[in-house]
Amino acid sequence: MRMTNQDMTSNSFPMTLSDPGVQHKLGTVCIFGTGDFGRSLGMRLLQSGYGVVFGSRNPRNSSLLPRGAQVLTHAEAAHTARVIFVAMHREHYDFLCQTAGEALAGKVLVDVSNNLKRNQYPESNAEHLHQLIPAAFVVKAFNTVSAWSLQSGGLDANRQVLICGDSCEAKQMVVDITHSLGFTALDKGSLRAATELEDYPLQLFPLWKLPVTLATSLTAFFFFYHLVHLIIYAAVNDREDISFRIMVSLANRVFPTVSLIMLALCYLPGAMAGFLQLYNGTKYRRFPAWLDRWMLCRKQLGLLALALAFLHVLYTLIIPIRYYVRYRVRDSTISK
Ligand code: NAP
Repeated sequence: MRMTNQDMTSNSFPMTLSDPGVQHKLGTVCIFGTGDFGRSLGMRLLQSGYGVVFGSRNPRNSSLLPRGAQVLTHAEAAHTARVIFVAMHREHYDFLCQTAGEALAGKVLVDVSNNLKRNQYPESNAEHLHQLIPAAFVVKAFNTVSAWSLQSGGLDANRQVLICGDSCEAKQMVVDITHSLGFTALDKGSLRAATELEDYPLQLFPLWKLPVTLATSLTAFFFFYHLVHLIIYAAVNDREDISFRIMVSLANRVFPTVSLIMLALCYLPGAMAGFLQLYNGTKYRRFPAWLDRWMLCRKQLGLLALALAFLHVLYTLIIPIRYYVRYRVRDSTISK
């Protein structure tokens, strides 16, 4: 089935003065669900020049909706637009199927849902929706964008919308809407990629995991090395208690060492990749997976190196104002 941008507003619904399709040059978009996400998306769509029709269980009692939007039942709303954002939780998809199943045939259903944990269901939410309504074109998109981001118009860092789906034309329609809302779109392929997209919001700083583990392990290693070498050795061998040095002097030996190692680890994969390209005689061959992963977290490695170097500067400035150092300086001056 071919779809065009003009198809965004379906002709099958009777045109009235309140029909948003009449007033909005970009066409009408339908949103199922009047929750946080649906309302924020509706507001953004209206601001960008789209007409918005909400599909809700309680069209009469819906409040807090953006001005200019219409609220109808799911089945009625489905007739007003070609693109329908399903801003509901996966658990309620069955309800959608029962109430508006037939009206959704041939529509582009944008699944924005996320789960509470990974592998919660055997298949992704988008694939589940497609199984329930096989006559619709399901596109996974906007699940990595928060309701807040939509309200602020993507002014924070999160401006990228990841999109996947089996129909190129359906995806293109969603890409067009994405651009109109002021976001950038990144096509992640077929609907099978939906699982990956649904996992994204559940990952906390994924690229930081390896560098932070590395920095923590190195810090712990060098800390214990210096602890044994300086403090415990002095206590056992010379019967001297210098444990007060642990907090500042010892830590200040660890930070620059780890910082320099992290800095080396930041630049090393780039050099290795260069040599590998020379060895392969081409830059078009894929790097091994471990090198790929290492290269991806170079920024994080560099930032951690910088943070440790900053701590070194801070501790170096603190050392001269410590009572012990001032006493040593005064003592040596007087004795001279
Ligand atoms: P929400 O505030 O709980 O709203 C969900 C909406 O679903 C309700 O407003 C309701 O709309 C409808 N609904 C609730 N119970 C239902 C039932 N038993 N049967 C049928 N419909 C029912 O959730 P939300 O925060 O807007 O999130 C909606 C979807 O967007 C979720 O899948 C979520 O994972 C996804 N998402 C949210 C965010 C976010 O920042 N909030 C970000 C990315 C993705 P009516 O009362 O109008 O029927």
